[in-house]
Amino acid sequence: MPKRAIHGLTNDELMEDARRSLPRGHGFARRVHRMAVLEGRFEPEALGLGAAACRAWRSEFSFELPEVVALETDDGPQGTTSKVVLRLYDGLEVEAVRIPMGRNRYTLCVSSQVGCKMGCGFCETGRMGLLRHLSTSEIISQLLVAKHRLGWPVRNIVFMGMGEALDNADNFFRALRVLNDPGGLAIAQERITICTVGHVQGIERLHQEGMKRLNLSISLNAAVDSLRSELMPINRRSDLRTLQRALACYRPRKNFALGVNYCLLPGLNDTRADARAIADFCKPLGRVLVNVIAYNPGSIPITRAPSEYEVEQFIGWLREEGLPVRQRVTKGRSVMAACGQLGNPSARVDRRSLRTLRV
Ligand code: SF4
Repeated sequence: MPKRAIHGLTNDELMEDARRSLPRGHGFARRVHRMAVLEGRFEPEALGLGAAACRAWRSEFSFELPEVVALETDDGPQGTTSKVVLRLYDGLEVEAVRIPMGRNRYTLCVSSQVGCKMGCGFCETGRMGLLRHLSTSEIISQLLVAKHRLGWPVRNIVFMGMGEALDNADNFFRALRVLNDPGGLAIAQERITICTVGHVQGIERLHQEGMKRLNLSISLNAAVDSLRSELMPINRRSDLRTLQRALACYRPRKNFALGVNYCLLPGLNDTRADARAIADFCKPLGRVLVNVIAYNPGSIPITRAPSEYEVEQFIGWLREEGLPVRQRVTKGRSVMAACGQLGNPSARVDRRSLRTLRV
């Protein structure tokens, strides 16, 4: 049986697993877990365990973090955005981004898959296709590397890196429990945001899981079916009405405000009529906050970046429609760390080398 990754488990789960599988030393499970996730170390010897118990721990459990293969930074008016490229055990690579939030606070944008099968037309990751899901421990590893190897003071987590988290639901929901685990990382649900392309089954599951204080945002990008289906193929499976129904049912708490992300694409989705369509879509959804994001042209641009005037004009139209709006400031564009830019060619192993690795 393969070794279980300590950081893919909650404190209670590790205790239970250790009790079942270790002949001795299982009473140290809580401390082993906390040492791993809070200090980034797996050293049962340092806890005073004897040689046989340490051997047993090492034969059943592992704690391996991915290697940092590149680190790039971009200084902007809001602070420094940093992108880290991590190499996984099979040679594939994922990216995580540290986003400055002011007052020395940072949000870590994490990946949930290597590549993505959703194929959104404006996204670099979508062009890779889906290479594989990340395991729970690989999702958590991004935070542990950020905290313990790079010393980043991470406050919030946003699932907006490579991949669609709700398409990797089992591993993703386990990762949420590990992040939120009061015996371990203890990251409050309020500090975690899930950004989805509009994965209806995933939104329904989110509802069933009953984690009521999480933040949710959707990537809308078009509020007219024909255009959205062109930009975001998932819309052909679940059209705007279906998505709207699922979101209208998702009211986890009284003061919940749904984030509606809208990437402004000049010449494609930036007219007065588009602003009206967004308002119509949002009407039955209760409290929303629309985030307008200026398009970041990647390696194969589908249009140009909008001017500041175009962004302001569109925001003005949304406000006329009565919507609360804010402009999401683009951070990290020069290092391809901005929205829709993760997964650039230098950060991935191509499919031929993947086959070689798997032989
Ligand atoms: S925008 Fe998100 S869901 Fe769409 S292709 Fe990119 S990573 Fe996947």
